[in-house]
Amino acid sequence: MRAVIIEKPYQASLIERPMPSITPNQVLVKVGAVGICASDVEVYEGTRPADYVRYPCQPGHEWSGTVVAIGDETTHLKVGDRVAVEGHHFCGKCYFCQRGQTNLCQHYNEFGFTLPGAYADYVAVRADLAHPFSTALPFEVAALTEPAACAGHGLLRANVRPGDNVVVIGPGTIGLLGVAWAKALGAERIIAVGVDRNNETFARSVGATDYITLADNAVNAIRDLTDGHGADVVFESAGNPQAVLLALDLVRRGGTVVQVGIAGGDHHIRLSPDLACLKDLRLHGVFAYTSAVFAETLRRIESGALNVRPLITHRLPLAQFADGLALLKHKPEPVVKVVIVDSDSG
Ligand SMILES: [Zn+2]
Ligand SMILES: [Zn+2]
Repeated sequence: MRAVIIEKPYQASLIERPMPSITPNQVLVKVGAVGICASDVEVYEGTRPADYVRYPCQPGHEWSGTVVAIGDETTHLKVGDRVAVEGHHFCGKCYFCQRGQTNLCQHYNEFGFTLPGAYADYVAVRADLAHPFSTALPFEVAALTEPAACAGHGLLRANVRPGDNVVVIGPGTIGLLGVAWAKALGAERIIAVGVDRNNETFARSVGATDYITLADNAVNAIRDLTDGHGADVVFESAGNPQAVLLALDLVRRGGTVVQVGIAGGDHHIRLSPDLACLKDLRLHGVFAYTSAVFAETLRRIESGALNVRPLITHRLPLAQFADGLALLKHKPEPVVKVVIVDSDSG
């Protein structure tokens, strides 16, 4: 079978590899579609933290496909089932896994980083990580379950209620998926805040009712749009220190801030120690997603309630993976999600 191997940074090629074999608790999945993620670019360029990647690396963690073989212990799947696969290969036994916090597993292992991922024709996966979906859902849309689950993990905990207003700071891929989630959860006013208007059309296509740039004086603009109260929920996905401060400013008293963005490095911000008390805030950080959230995300995508389809901007065959990485890196044209999908998969 074919697979992309990143031997070491800046050395990637499509090669022939032996078909993976499966153990009794695994299934073999023929890849239908795999999304290209900014973290794949990090693996290619060698900028991902060393604890979270192992070279040579076979990338691909946002994907779906068809079960073509099952191990003896597998009961919930059969050959021919279409499945979306969780990225995190959590252990199921540690302190966190036992509590259902599979995203915090003490033994980090993830498809596409430390385990062979889906930039390939076939992948062997533990059966419990493979979630079946209907043939009515295209592979490329199901492949967005993984990144959508990251946004969902934050917004499901934020208890968005019908009629709420939600502000999304940083309308990149995760921010746009946050917009789609806010819409799915019944938010009435969904305000995206960006540094420029590049992603305005995409934001509106998945449910944003308003779009503001930082140049518009976001604080005043959002107070005007929310009867002076501020946002019920702020979803911060910009990943910079100023965005965190802006989120804390824009949220209303008694509201919720969800922080998904990673600013990186050793930035520091100055906060009043009384802020959370005086505003009666709830603050949620988001690290990936649990197994339960992944399953719920797939169900909502399948039902059509969570509309992620407009975010697929490019489709390429596996042989052109390098063009996909370059598209995401340089963005020579509007790009949100590039999906690798070969012509024989429907
Ligand atoms: Zn990703
Ligand atoms: Zn664990």
